[in-house]
Amino acid sequence: MLTGIHLLLTYMCNLECDHCFVYSGPNAKGTFTLSQIKEVLNEATKIGTINWIYFEGGEPFLYYPIMLEGIKIAHSIGFEVGVVTNAYYATSEEDIELWLQPLIESGISDLSISDDSFHYEEEKDDPAKLALSVAKRLGMPADSICIDKPTVETGIDKDQDKGALVIGGGAMFRGRAVEKLVEGLPKRRWEEFTECPYEDLKEPERVHVDSFGNVHICQGLSMGNMWKTPLSKLIENYNADSHPIYGPLVRGGPALLAKEYNIKHEEKYVDACHFCYLLRLSLIDRFPQYLAPRQIYGLE
Ligand code: SF4
Repeated sequence: MLTGIHLLLTYMCNLECDHCFVYSGPNAKGTFTLSQIKEVLNEATKIGTINWIYFEGGEPFLYYPIMLEGIKIAHSIGFEVGVVTNAYYATSEEDIELWLQPLIESGISDLSISDDSFHYEEEKDDPAKLALSVAKRLGMPADSICIDKPTVETGIDKDQDKGALVIGGGAMFRGRAVEKLVEGLPKRRWEEFTECPYEDLKEPERVHVDSFGNVHICQGLSMGNMWKTPLSKLIENYNADSHPIYGPLVRGGPALLAKEYNIKHEEKYVDACHFCYLLRLSLIDRFPQYLAPRQIYGLE
């Protein structure tokens, strides 16, 4: 049952992290207008099962007044509202209060702050830690999200035998992470990747929406365009089996996607997402309405 909608308020970000799976950066296009946010919230109400609305990106604080107004409207409708941020604005305790207090007054239920070596490698006064401490002092429900650089350990992976090499750190090998992080990591044969390990593609609990209208379960893989078909209808009519990309992924993971479209590929990949992402990249011109936006694939 779908219970959450995550608005990618903007693809723009002040940072350009190696692990970013939506390829955000200072020049990334695609930001919601307030009227588009209202339309999403209106549709979310029609769906009837949505409890949570998240504002994320990119970096949503780059469009602070629009984000704040969106939070207020979502809260007034009765949704729980969360925000994901990298806390780039956290320069001093006094200033952070000015950024966060209006969110508290708007009824925010969760602030997730990215705090890891991708975001703040060598900063002595880590803005994320400072922001988190101020948020907690103000009584705000807040926590940090930490993704480390990939590590290779011997251990037990759910798909592998004891003693196999396991990749730690939590980065997802999609988007810019494929360009920046896979080199030197151990790989496994493509036939092993027979399921999507991270997302319930058949009955998702949350979707991501962007200002171009794409409705993604996994970022870059759209079930349809909500500016052409209302979001509530897209959700109501969604059937993974009849979707040209989700269908094969549900039936047999990236391995089946490769077979069904007879895609030329390498013998080995780091994980299912690495394989899946590169297969989708090779299908992008064939299914432009579903493999979108192109910028998530590092393309213009
Ligand atoms: S990239 Fe493919 S395998 Fe990985 S979470 Fe997304 S849909 Fe699943």
